[in-house]
Amino acid sequence: MTDTSAPDDPVAASDEDAATIGADYEALLAEAEQVLDDVDHALARLDDGTYGTCELCGGPIDPGRLAGHPAARSCERHPQLTDPATGPA
Ligand SMILES: [Zn+2]
Repeated sequence: MTDTSAPDDPVAASDEDAATIGADYEALLAEAEQVLDDVDHALARLDDGTYGTCELCGGPIDPGRLAGHPAARSCERHPQLTDPATGPA
């Protein structure tokens, strides 16, 4: 009564696939850690009452910007604090 319906040769990832998956995983992990760091930072700023203000100029961050990037650290004039990967256009 042994169930033998399971494939006896499951699709095995090649070393190349494994390397690609590993690189993707590392990139995703780094991105997730960055997001967690940003969220922690935003929560700290909520606690100290500075959430929603630019860390560089102290001005208010546009609500639309916060809607798109709730953990934004800077206003639209100083996007480098929020989007280090994309930067200014
Ligand atoms: Zn600013």
